Amino acid sequence: MKSDHNNKAAKAGKEPKRKAEAKPARKQGVKETAEEEAVREGAAEEKVACNDEKCPFHGKLSLRGRVLSGIISSGGMHRTATFLMERLFYIPKYQRYERRRTKLKVHNPPCIEAQKGDRVRVMECRPLSKTKKFVIIQKLG
Ligand SMILES: [Zn+2]
Repeated sequence: MKSDHNNKAAKAGKEPKRKAEAKPARKQGVKETAEEEAVREGAAEEKVACNDEKCPFHGKLSLRGRVLSGIISSGGMHRTATFLMERLFYIPKYQRYERRRTKLKVHNPPCIEAQKGDRVRVMECRPLSKTKKFVIIQKLG
């Protein structure tokens, strides 16, 4: 990641005032867990060619907010996938659980390229389009 950053800075020369683009800026007060850090560094080590501006590892996208895990229920769109999370919701009156689903459009960066059926972890980011506000940060085994 560092060498990439240096190359960019050398090439662009005339825009030194851009604030630190090395790692995705996080809002102050949001602590990065050890796990997240590992994810970030893992992706940096892979050195996959990725020139996606909206990639949290190689672009300028900053992450914040919620982290969810689920599966990719549909792929095939350009850098976009459909994410599906199933959870159990407790109904006190019947002392039973009902299934609830959350379906989201998520950004699928080229260095991750999740396919339909993959288990993934997604994290909230700025709105990338009308319906995309999350990005895939990791494939889970
Ligand atoms: Zn990337």
